[in-house]
Amino acid sequence: MSFDYDLFVIGGGSGGVRAARVAAGENGAKVALAEEDRYGGTCVIRGCVPKKLMVFASEFSGMVGDAQAFGWDIQRGAFDWSTFHGKLVAELDRLEGIYRNILKNNGVESFDQRARVVDPHTVELADGARKTAKHILVATGGRPVVPEFSGSELAITSNEVFHLEKLPESMLIVGGGYIACEFAGIMNGLGVKTTQFYRGAQILRGFDDEARGLISEEMCQNGIDLHLGTNVLEMKQQGDKIWVKATNGSERLFDVVMYATGRAPNADDLGLEALGVARGRKGEIIVDEYSQTGVPSIYAIGDVTDRVNLTPVAIREGMAFVETVFKGNPTPVDHELIPTAIFTQPEMGTVGLSEEEAAAQEPIEVYATSFKPMQKSFAGGTQRVLMKLIVSQASRKVLGCHIVAPGAGEMIQLAGIAVKMGATKEDFDRTVAVHPVMAEELVTMRQPVRTA
Ligand SMILES: Cc1cc2nc3c(=O)[nH]c(=O)nc-3n(C[C@H](O)[C@H](O)[C@H](O)COP(=O)(O)OP(=O)(O)OC[C@H]3O[C@@H](n4cnc5c(N)ncnc54)[C@H](O)[C@@H]3O)c2cc1C
Repeated sequence: MSFDYDLFVIGGGSGGVRAARVAAGENGAKVALAEEDRYGGTCVIRGCVPKKLMVFASEFSGMVGDAQAFGWDIQRGAFDWSTFHGKLVAELDRLEGIYRNILKNNGVESFDQRARVVDPHTVELADGARKTAKHILVATGGRPVVPEFSGSELAITSNEVFHLEKLPESMLIVGGGYIACEFAGIMNGLGVKTTQFYRGAQILRGFDDEARGLISEEMCQNGIDLHLGTNVLEMKQQGDKIWVKATNGSERLFDVVMYATGRAPNADDLGLEALGVARGRKGEIIVDEYSQTGVPSIYAIGDVTDRVNLTPVAIREGMAFVETVFKGNPTPVDHELIPTAIFTQPEMGTVGLSEEEAAAQEPIEVYATSFKPMQKSFAGGTQRVLMKLIVSQASRKVLGCHIVAPGAGEMIQLAGIAVKMGATKEDFDRTVAVHPVMAEELVTMRQPVRTA
């Protein structure tokens, strides 16, 4: 049977672009890709990249005080959103261009429109054209969802926050996950009076409790008005403000309300149900360890499969798909011990098990130290950092490493290699400290603070 393409990819985000590029460029496959919005997907257009640029922008305000303490005659001026935003838009345009060129230069034919699957080997484009392919790869990502309640239509999400016309004076951020916490830090740093509501008892559920506690404390110290155990009951437009009634009885006005309480996979209206492709509780596409669905010619990778929703993971899944399907080398994706960073202020870098998860699994030793880092301490700041290792009593392996500190994301990339290699506490100890840096504590903690 002959097909128009060897591979048709639906979705031009992190996972889809990588799979298409490698299948075509390195394996000579005939590949097409459909993207209904902008190339680069969530990460490049409305996720990791613009967010990190906003984190950078927001961090300068705190640096001014430190610079003064170090003797600089420097004053804090105003932040000009329109200058920053103009540069941000130009940068995203530049990056989108790079993604388009990557596809073009590797011989991938792209279609700037929505696509859906009509049979195991046929994709239908929005203009009605049908294309056949030996393999179909669904890489359609996810989207933010706002729960429905009275006034919920007034809320923006992380999709819109990058395109505010002006910087609000006040903002409410609802949610306790990493996106909500990162934006609370960003807005606060940019000078917005920032309030955060989270219905749970502590932000950043699922991460190490001690790390969550420190981040929450520091966020409050930085000026974020964080309310735990609190949710929104109702919202109304009142002039140019949004009136918000909360479960704690408060009634307040905000310029902007942003919801970051959850995301859903983009798996609706893709025509998959009719073909018998299974979907999970959140609507995610169910795949096996090779990212293959129950229909052998259809694969799915990235956020639409809701496994580990991170850019490097979507990219890995795309690479493993190509290895499996086009190189005849079946490659399952390894989702164990993925290091990750949360760009809160302070930042967190984490890999492996939290203390709570590890203790539920086996007897452990906990090595932890929290201290004022040299630069902040000299400047008279009260900020603290945390370096923490979770060690198996039986194997001595480091099961988890959690860092809360400026630059923690950079540190955990390297500590992640050691943890992934199965390094023991004694391997860490054998490594000579780098001095004077915050991370030297990772190799100099002699006594456990507790066992569990
Ligand atoms: C605010 C925010 C911050 C984040 N920060 C980080 C971070 O710091 N680090 C990190 O690792 N991850 C981060 N992520 C997560 C990361 O962005 C995602 O995990 C990653 O983009 C997933 O890649 P993907 O290829 O699965 O999907 P996406 O990148 O979402 O791409 C899917 C593409 O498919 C297109 N599409 C959807 N349906 C169709 C259709 N039917 N036809 C044609 N095209 C379609 C979409 O328009 C989109 O471009 C963040 C996410 C958000 C929202």
